[in-house]
Amino acid sequence: MAVLADPLRLVLGDKAAKRLAAVLDLHTVGDLLSYYPRRYDRRGELTDLASLREGEHVTVQAEVAAVSERRMRNRPGSILEAVVTDGRGRLTLTFFGRGRQTWRESELHPGVRGLFSGQVSSFQGKRQLTHPEYELLGSGSAGARAAEFAAELIPVYRASAQLSSWKIAESVRVALDVLDVPDDPLPASVRRQHGLCGYADAVRGIHRPVDEADVSRSRTRLKWDEAFALQVLLAQRRLAAASYSAIPRPPVSGGLLAAFDATLPFELTVGQELAGATIADDLARPHPMHRLLQGEVGSGKTVIALRAMLQVIDAAGQAALLAPTEVLAQQHFRSISSLLGPLAMAGQLGGAEHATRLTLLTGSLGAAARRKALLEAASGGAGIIIGTHALLEDRVQFADLGLVVIDEQHRFGVEQRDALRDKAGDGRPHMLVMTATPIPRTVAMTVFGDLDMSTLTELPAGRSPIATHVVPVAQRPHYLARTWERIREEVAAGRQAYVVCPRIGGDEPPDAEDALAPSDELGPARPPIAVLDLAAELAAGPLAGLRLAILHGRLPAEDKEKAMLAFADGLVDVLVTTTVVEVGVDVPNAVVMVIMDADRFGVSQLHQLRGRVGRGSDPGLCLLVTEAPEDAPARERLDAVAGTLDGFALSRIDLVQRREGDVLGTAQAGRKSSLRLLRLLDDEDLIAQARAEATDLVAADPALADAPGLAAAVRVLIDVEKSTFLEKA
Ligand code: ADP
Ligand code: MG
Repeated sequence: MAVLADPLRLVLGDKAAKRLAAVLDLHTVGDLLSYYPRRYDRRGELTDLASLREGEHVTVQAEVAAVSERRMRNRPGSILEAVVTDGRGRLTLTFFGRGRQTWRESELHPGVRGLFSGQVSSFQGKRQLTHPEYELLGSGSAGARAAEFAAELIPVYRASAQLSSWKIAESVRVALDVLDVPDDPLPASVRRQHGLCGYADAVRGIHRPVDEADVSRSRTRLKWDEAFALQVLLAQRRLAAASYSAIPRPPVSGGLLAAFDATLPFELTVGQELAGATIADDLARPHPMHRLLQGEVGSGKTVIALRAMLQVIDAAGQAALLAPTEVLAQQHFRSISSLLGPLAMAGQLGGAEHATRLTLLTGSLGAAARRKALLEAASGGAGIIIGTHALLEDRVQFADLGLVVIDEQHRFGVEQRDALRDKAGDGRPHMLVMTATPIPRTVAMTVFGDLDMSTLTELPAGRSPIATHVVPVAQRPHYLARTWERIREEVAAGRQAYVVCPRIGGDEPPDAEDALAPSDELGPARPPIAVLDLAAELAAGPLAGLRLAILHGRLPAEDKEKAMLAFADGLVDVLVTTTVVEVGVDVPNAVVMVIMDADRFGVSQLHQLRGRVGRGSDPGLCLLVTEAPEDAPARERLDAVAGTLDGFALSRIDLVQRREGDVLGTAQAGRKSSLRLLRLLDDEDLIAQARAEATDLVAADPALADAPGLAAAVRVLIDVEKSTFLEKA
C-alpha cells in the first residue's frame, strides 16, 4: 500500500518514476494522482481529425482504413503506411522499419480502432503522424488492459512525445491499485455538510470514471480539496498575523485629524465614512491592521488613507506612503501637501499648531535632498514619508513607523510588503493597501485572502460621466481625422486632452512599465504606435498649433515632473503619453482621452486609463482607436469597455481573458499551480463555502492537530509556493 506522500519510485519502480519526474515534474503518488485527465473520450467515438493542428502533440481515437508497406528505394528497410479515419477526414501514420514489418501490418488491419499519439506534421500535403505510439482498442490483449478499454470513458492526459497518454494512465492505474488514504484531507464534517464523496473515491472517479456523473461528482470533491487547503492556509496566516503585536494608535481628540476634518472642503461619502471608521478601529488595536481598500479611480481612497495617517501621527507615530512610480509619488506629495496646507508646515512660517511635515523620498533625489529626507524619516521630523521603492532600501529608517500605506497593490509583491513591515521597531506597523483595480470577490478571497477588505462602491457626488467610443480606423479611416478634430474643439473651449500610446518609440525597447501583450489578432503587423512618432506627426499635422508635451517612463524624473506639472497647470493642451499616466493622476480640466492601438491594452487597464478624464465638472470622453476587425476578440473587449463603466464587470472579463495563474501572482503562478480544477470565476460559491469552513476549522484547531490529512495537503501547498518562489528568484 502507498500513501499520497510516497515517492513514485516505490510504486512504479525507478524507470517510470524518473520519466514522470523528468517529463511532467511529478514526484509523489499525490503529484501523479492530481495530474488529472484533460478530457475523456467516449469509447468508440472517433476524434474529429479536421480539428488537428500541425505541430501539435495529439492523442486521437480513429479507425484504420488501409495499410500498405513498401521497400525504401535507396536504403534497406521498409516504410509502412497506415491510413486512419474518423469517417470523414484521414490521417497517415508512417512507420520506418529495418526489415519488413509484418507484425505491425497484421496488427493494424482495416477496421481496427485505436488510440494514436504523436506530433502532427505534413508531408506532400497530407497530414501525418510519424512513428506514433498507439494502443489498439478491444484488441483482446490481456486482463487489465481489456478491462480498461471496456470502460465507457477513456481518460486522455496531456501527453508528449516522451510520455503517451496511456502510459500515464497505466501509471495512474498502478498507483490507484495500491493507494491507501488513511486520513482524508477533507474532514468528515465538511464532507457530510456539503455532500462530498471521500478522497479515494474521487481520485478513482476522476481517473477511471464509470460515467459522466462519476466525473462530475469527483471533480466537485477535488475542487473542494483545492479550495479548502488554500483557505486553511490563508486562515492560518490571518490568525498568525493577528497574533503579532502592533502599537495601538487610537484616535485622539483635538489633534491633527480633527483639524484636518474641520478644513475638508467636502462631505465624506457614506462609503468613505464606513471604511474610515473601520480603519480607525483597526488602528486602535494592539495587532497590526492588514486591510485592502479598493475603489474605482476617483472614489476617494487617498483621503481615507490620509485620515488614517493623521490618526497615527496624532498617536505619535509616522506613516509611509509607497507609490508604484515616481510620477505618482510626486503627485501624492503635491496633492497631500495641498490638502494639508498649514497642517503640514511644522516649523515653518504659517504652520499650524500640531503641524507635521511631509517628506518625499524617491530614487531620483540628489545626494543632499536625499540626506535631508533620510534624516527627516529617521529623526521623526516628518510625520508622512512619501516615496517609491526607494523607501524599501536598508538605509531608510524611521523613528516610529506606525502605518504603511501601499498605493496600487498590483505592482508590489508580497516580499516588498514585508520589507517595509520589517522597518517598524517594536512590533509591526499597521498596513493599508489601496487598489483601484477592482478585484473580483473570488480573487480577493484567494490571492488577497490574508487581507481584510473595505470597498468603496460609489463615487463622490458631482462627478461627470465618461462616454467611451470605439474608433475602428480599419473600417472607418475618416473617424481618426474626426478624433483629432474633437481634440481641437475641446482645446478651443479651454480644455485639455491625453493621447495614450502603447510604446515610447526611438530605438530602445518598450517602457518597462508597459507590460503589454501584443495583439494576436492583427497578424504580423507593424509595431505599436509610439509616443515619439505620434507626437511628431500630430505636431506637424492634425494638432499643429496646439501646445503638445510628451510623457513616458524613459524621461528623466525632473522632465516627467515638469511635463505633469505643466499639464496640471494648463500650460500644455495635449499630453502624448504612455501608461505612466495610468494611476492616480488627477487633472480635472482634462476631458478627452484618445487611446491609440487600444486593442493592445487589457480591459482593466483601459478602464483605469479612462478614469483620468471626467474628473472635473465637464463630462469625459474616451476614444478607443483600433485597427482590429469588427469580429475579432479584441474588438469585443473594446466594445465591452465602451459598454460599461462597471469596473467589477470588466475585471471579470479580464480574468476570463488571462490565464488564471497570471492573476494569482507569485504565490500561485507557475507550472505547478495548485489550482487545477478550481475556476475562480465559476466556483465562487464553492470558494466562499470553503473559506467559511476553513475559518471555523482553523479557529478551533489552528495547528490542524486533528486533521493530519489536511495538514499534509497544506504542507504540499506551502512547498509549491516555496518552489515557485525559488524558481522566480
Ligand atoms: P482615488 O485615490 O480613489 O483615485 P482620490 O482620493 O484621489 O481618489 O479622490 C479623487 C478626487 O476626489 C480628489 O480630488 C479628492 O479630493 C476628491 N474627493 C475625495 N472624496 C471626496 C468627496 N467625498 N466629495 C468630493 N470630492 C472628493
Ligand atoms: Mg489615488
